[in-house]
Amino acid sequence: MPPAFPLPVGSTIGILGGGQLGRMLGMAAAQLGFRVHVFAPQKESVAAEVCAKFTCADWHDATALAAFADECAVVTYEFENVPVDALAAMPREKLAPSSRALEVAQDRLAEKQFIAKLGGRPAPFAAVSSPEEMEAALAAIGMPGILKTRRDGYDGKGQWAIAGHADAQGVKVPASGLVYEGRVAFTAEFSVILVRGRDGAVRFWDSTRNRHEDGILVRSELPAPDIVTSQVEQARALAQKVADALDYVGALTLEFFATEQGPVFNEMAPRVHNSGHWTIEGAHTSQFENHIRAICGLPLGDTSAIATRVVMDNLIGEEALALERHLSDPTAHVHLYGKAKARAGRKMGHVTRVGKR
Ligand code: AMP
Repeated sequence: MPPAFPLPVGSTIGILGGGQLGRMLGMAAAQLGFRVHVFAPQKESVAAEVCAKFTCADWHDATALAAFADECAVVTYEFENVPVDALAAMPREKLAPSSRALEVAQDRLAEKQFIAKLGGRPAPFAAVSSPEEMEAALAAIGMPGILKTRRDGYDGKGQWAIAGHADAQGVKVPASGLVYEGRVAFTAEFSVILVRGRDGAVRFWDSTRNRHEDGILVRSELPAPDIVTSQVEQARALAQKVADALDYVGALTLEFFATEQGPVFNEMAPRVHNSGHWTIEGAHTSQFENHIRAICGLPLGDTSAIATRVVMDNLIGEEALALERHLSDPTAHVHLYGKAKARAGRKMGHVTRVGKR
């Protein structure tokens, strides 16, 4: 039977993926009185640790996925690389956001083409599926630029900075192909995070300035500089078009470069986003809670910020282990994700400060 919305309290929400985004979604769902069942292929799951039930199975285990979906009133995902073909094992009306959103976001080339069709402006790009196409792309777009895997890249992984032909020669073209894009001269980076309800209502959170190091987000902060705030309206208009075109339900993120020529689209994520973690303490309703509200067909909460200054710092690698030091700052809201090993470059937690410093 297709689910009837709004879902009654006590219903079970399924989450595909077992990482920290699932953990924070699970905690928001529990706060509203829902049960959460996590499905993930890895035995270690920081999401499963805070949820009612865990199915550990391969994405392509159709029996396990069907049984999981059967137990859930609605299923969402916290990881955008869930293989789309595997989702055929579950009723499509249970999935939110839809698998179409996954399809677009899993392929950097499809994503850029989709955005360009909606009137957005990505960095100049070209598909690369052979060494000949690589040469053609470098010639057409020029250097410097960045080669990125079309699929499965995250946190700067699967990316190669290209300053000259020698850099490109060392990059092997994977079966799923690459995209070459021109390096954007930007003043700041920012993201637009929105939530769209089952009735099509859309709300936006304030756009933070996002700072990255080595391709990894290190800080999101409000207020954003003028160059960002002056471009947010245009960026939001594009994000709304994306959400409407996909008949999207849930939280959606688009990342942008603020340039002297206006906002340039970088990438989208069909989910809650690291640059929205500040909303847990810094907004009236967090991205996690509003995602849960949206997929359950409940009224959306107020997305406005509770202070003009909010700073979220990621805790990356071993720095997360200094819990006492983080807690010694009385203004710090400390979140650790419960990951067993603090590898370099691994997101272990974050700290948010509202209205101070
Ligand atoms: P991505 O995983 O594609 O979001 O890339 C991670 C980070 O690398 C971005 O947030 C930027 O800081 C940087 N980056 C990626 N693509 C470009 C580009 N075309 N021009 C300039 N910087 C980029």
